[in-house]
Amino acid sequence: MLPTQVLEKVRVELTDLNGTGMSAMEMAHRGSGFRPIAQQAEADLRELLAIPPNYKVVFMQGGAQAQFALVPLNLLESCTRADYINTGHWSKRAIAEAARYCTVNVAASSEHSNFTTVPPQSEWQLSEQAAYVHYTPNETIGGVEFPWIPDTGDIPLVTDMTSTILARPLDVSRFGVIYAAAQKNIGPAGITVVIVREDLLGRARTEVPSVFNYKLQAEDNSMFNTPSTFAWYVSGLVLKWLKDKGGLAAIAKVNERKAAKVYACIDESGGFYRNPVALDCRSKSNIPFTLVDSALDATFLEQCQAAGLTQLQGHRSVGGMRASIYNAMPEEGVDTLVQFMRHFCEKHG
Ligand SMILES: *Cc1c(COP(=O)(O)O)cnc(C)c1O
Repeated sequence: MLPTQVLEKVRVELTDLNGTGMSAMEMAHRGSGFRPIAQQAEADLRELLAIPPNYKVVFMQGGAQAQFALVPLNLLESCTRADYINTGHWSKRAIAEAARYCTVNVAASSEHSNFTTVPPQSEWQLSEQAAYVHYTPNETIGGVEFPWIPDTGDIPLVTDMTSTILARPLDVSRFGVIYAAAQKNIGPAGITVVIVREDLLGRARTEVPSVFNYKLQAEDNSMFNTPSTFAWYVSGLVLKWLKDKGGLAAIAKVNERKAAKVYACIDESGGFYRNPVALDCRSKSNIPFTLVDSALDATFLEQCQAAGLTQLQGHRSVGGMRASIYNAMPEEGVDTLVQFMRHFCEKHG
């Protein structure tokens, strides 16, 4: 979801942005109307994440799954090997895509626990000649989140932060490349943020399409081709909303409370609800859970819908339920869900 205040501002500005008589969608991307919007969004993102000056921010199209191919294409150069950590659905997709361009060494996997844990770094079998190490800090579907940042020494750490970026303060300097599709915590679908350390620019394979070349886009302020201007504009409003909320330290506290409330409800249900993930790596953004009897799933979802609680069906690959409680989900929304779940459990448990 997007913050209601943001959507209301979009509505007000839809036909007349800042007295220009037009919408952000209609503005020339390099024109004087759009340029300050683009620059402010980047400045606010830099401020929120305290992005060091030796990192470039690129706004791209294609979503996170385009990055599954663009990371190897932009970083491999003449290298033939990359290390990946497999913690579930999105890691597997990233691995499959990278394997089209290089030899992928799966340096660690939590498949043996059915992806309910994260592999401790002491068990990682990193290669010496890897161009980079890739991992997924929050597996959106499995609901598994790393509570620590890996240390890969001189080998650049690359991360798919799509479902956890901006949820709390982050030490960007630990990473070589951070990428995140906008549609979870940044803004509408159609734009992808790539934060890349400057020394990694210029390692692209020649076959990478120019519009997806990190260096070319960084040199052209992400305007090598026409960017998704409307998504960029709405993302800028979300970033401003986050700043007004007190920034990442403030939203992190709200996110902690929201997640703690849902997990407490699950854990105190006497087994009526279950979340399979190990306690130390439960996601704070995505909480999958099952009901004691899956025959109750349809009733649960119907009654949720009637109570105004929507989009709780689990991902089609795992079934059950999933509560995604990104930044824009207010704490009251979580309170309503928890109250509903308690009542449902009393009635059917
Ligand atoms: C949602 C999601 C994706 C998929 O993003 P697309 O923009 O649809 O390609 C990839 N990785 C993670 C971690 C996600 O949460």
